[in-house]
Amino acid sequence: AKERGGNRYEVADPDADARAITRHGLTNQLPSALRHGEFFVEYQPLIGLEDGAVLGAEALVRWSHPVHGVLGPDQFIPLAESTGQIVPLGRWVLEQAAQQARDWHDRKFTGPAPRINVNLSPVQLTHPDLVAEVAAVLDETGLQPSALCLEVTESALIGADEDALKPLRRIADLGVAIALDDFGTGYSNLSSLRWLPVSVLKLDRSFTRGMRQHPADPVEMKIVEGIVSLAHTLNLTVTVEGVETRTQAEHLRALGCDTAQGWYYGKAGPAEQLHRLTLADAG
Ligand code: C2E
Ligand code: CA
Ligand code: CA
Ligand code: CA
Repeated sequence: AKERGGNRYEVADPDADARAITRHGLTNQLPSALRHGEFFVEYQPLIGLEDGAVLGAEALVRWSHPVHGVLGPDQFIPLAESTGQIVPLGRWVLEQAAQQARDWHDRKFTGPAPRINVNLSPVQLTHPDLVAEVAAVLDETGLQPSALCLEVTESALIGADEDALKPLRRIADLGVAIALDDFGTGYSNLSSLRWLPVSVLKLDRSFTRGMRQHPADPVEMKIVEGIVSLAHTLNLTVTVEGVETRTQAEHLRALGCDTAQGWYYGKAGPAEQLHRLTLADAG
């Protein structure tokens, strides 16, 4: 068994050939799967740490495969990226999520519009139609741009020059928020935060492992405290992912993190679950 991130263990696959065939098969099936409506989107609530309010959700795609059952994004997003199929798939996810957010907004009578977060692959970032597609989706759904947040991983932006960042800047100019996803897992330097068109920092869940107990790991607390302080100085909002326990939530709140996401608050689920949460929240 080989160790995989923290305390999770995974038995090595004895039949790598079979897996390669499956991978090949899945890759070929991606286009028809999209046509046949085999993908669906789940929504995980985003919670304001200050008062526990549901602020919105992150859209996470799944594949309901006719033979293999429900596949998680880690099982097919890399394949979709390698073939470019992530471009139509990503656009489809964005459309679904924007529709859904618009729908929540229409049903929710008080408070600010729920925010919808959508992941953007590095491959989408280099696609020439990206800006036009985002604008078109906003136009079609009537979703206000500030209700949309596109999540870009840190690694996608490492080494990006001014030209590569142009589409992202233009999207930000539309009023759409950009989040730096999985922050802290890449090799970016903190000073890049000064010039990236980013308004949200999503701290990777690896930062909160030492916060499961009272007292928390003091070094981990100091690190997050420093990141939050720097982020706030730069007018960035801090979201923490992978919050699994109440103790973690309390520590993160004490450190001044703004938003949280994780199993403690709710797993990703069907849109209806969010409907109920946001409506309950509206009172
Ligand atoms: P991510 O953007 O970092 O999304 C968070 C992942 O952490 C999700 O896994 C979510 O279900 C999981 N998670 C949430 N709360 C907890 C928690 O408390 N503890 C733990 N251990 N995990 C938690 P999921 O849905 O399997 O997605 C995996 C990755 O696939 C995402 O990571 C994202 O990078 C990618 N992905 C998902 N949907 C899309 C999409 O539509 N487009 C693209 N390009 N990538 C996507
Ligand atoms: Ca994400
Ligand atoms: Ca993330
Ligand atoms: Ca992550």
